[in-house]
Amino acid sequence: MIVTRTFLGTPPFPVAAKAALANSQLRSNMRNATHTIRDKRARVIGELDDFEQLRDAAADIKDDVLANMGRYLVQAEEALTRAGATVHWARDAAEANRIVVGIAASHKVDEVVKVKSMATQEIELNVALEAAGIAAWETDLAELIVQLGDDLPSHILVPAIHRNRSEVREIFLREMGKVGMAAEADLTDDPAELAGAARRHLREKFMRAKVAISGANFLVADTGTLCVVESEGNGRMCLTLPEVLISVVGIEKVVPTWTDLEVFLQLLPRSATGERMNPYTSTWTGVTAGDGPQEVHVVLIDNGRTTVLADQVGRQALRCIRCSACMNVCPVYERTGGHAYGSVYPGPIGAILTPMLRGVGVDEATDALPFASSLCGACYEVCPVQINIPEVLVHLRAKVVDSHRTGVPGALQAAMTGASWTLGRSSRLALLQTCAGLGGRVFGRRGLIGRLPPPLSRWTDARDLPAPPRESFRRWWTRTDGGRRGAGSQPDGMGNERSEK
Ligand code: SF4
Repeated sequence: MIVTRTFLGTPPFPVAAKAALANSQLRSNMRNATHTIRDKRARVIGELDDFEQLRDAAADIKDDVLANMGRYLVQAEEALTRAGATVHWARDAAEANRIVVGIAASHKVDEVVKVKSMATQEIELNVALEAAGIAAWETDLAELIVQLGDDLPSHILVPAIHRNRSEVREIFLREMGKVGMAAEADLTDDPAELAGAARRHLREKFMRAKVAISGANFLVADTGTLCVVESEGNGRMCLTLPEVLISVVGIEKVVPTWTDLEVFLQLLPRSATGERMNPYTSTWTGVTAGDGPQEVHVVLIDNGRTTVLADQVGRQALRCIRCSACMNVCPVYERTGGHAYGSVYPGPIGAILTPMLRGVGVDEATDALPFASSLCGACYEVCPVQINIPEVLVHLRAKVVDSHRTGVPGALQAAMTGASWTLGRSSRLALLQTCAGLGGRVFGRRGLIGRLPPPLSRWTDARDLPAPPRESFRRWWTRTDGGRRGAGSQPDGMGNERSEK
């Protein structure tokens, strides 16, 4: 059986990012992949005249759901039950895992097939299944690569984005035969050949699996219909072939009606893979006699979501439809990859969602995440449901800082107090600027400072610092009367005016 790795023990973001930045192969893979997807997205979004109106509508629908979540969930439960499904409620990961493992074990299976699902990754369902002696086979191609490679996902949509095709070929050749149908010995790194090897390997598992596990992209409250979108058809196989289907669904996935679903089915594929529609959009409503799984379970999980809902600023993160557009444009994510975030949710959405689901002030790694951003705002610009990620990041940074207040000022607080004191009087600022100009002359080389002494070395360890100019703007302004008499006067070495004679 394959042993599932988890993010447990991943070092805090600054440490993990530093290691990732040293991996030039990773940076190259990430740059190629994210730029390809973001260019495709930009092209198909450019085809829509009403894209901004769709974003408005999507944000409004999600906000309505968040404001009335209890009502919509009960409506969904009633509709699902009427349609023959069994609904389970899980407060946390442990409860959700107990329910799913219990259902699988009741059918005496030692393996299940899985559709790619962020919710099951979040609750580490595969680990719980393995502990019960049940192998969970991932059937999404990228998830299969991650699983066979004893790896961790680094992107919510393309979990193996950090791998290139020659790495994938090696993994398939080395690992497939250990857990099922082996790849052919002459397998090349041609994408079609790699997909063919995965198809043959997986088909064997689809044909014998009795139980399948899925997530859901959406749950339509008024009919109890679940919806999964995917690109490979593996999801359709899992959702239709096995006798038993268990869907693990975050409570925020509910949408009121099919009309609302239509908005998201336009936004999601364009934002995610740069496609006009997903190759496979599967919807199912409970049990249909003689067609598809005859036992259908839906596990609705909270696992911290109601805590996020209670946060007036942070609750907008629950609008997320997991499209990954924010990751593909994030300059930080592009350079570090997803593993550095230490969570199944990497990138900008992970930097806000993970701390809110886990709670701030709990551990160093989680508290580092809201700071893993330059606050450039690119994520907000592309988000199809208009999550203001920079706003939530700043909100969470304040919470992290507050959670560590001990009465004794830390380095950050001391720095901010010092900045406040300096900026509080113009003469102090002028003195600081003069000192900075002198410092720049001591430490600067060709306009850049490559290294500063501790603790300022924490900045220059990773980047060059532009050397402060010899003369500050304020001094220049005074000396030249705002530029009106600049030609004949030059500063001396201290930034003081001297006239050219
Ligand atoms: S935060 Fe927005 S852009 Fe990022 S994954 Fe969620 S919906 Fe997509």
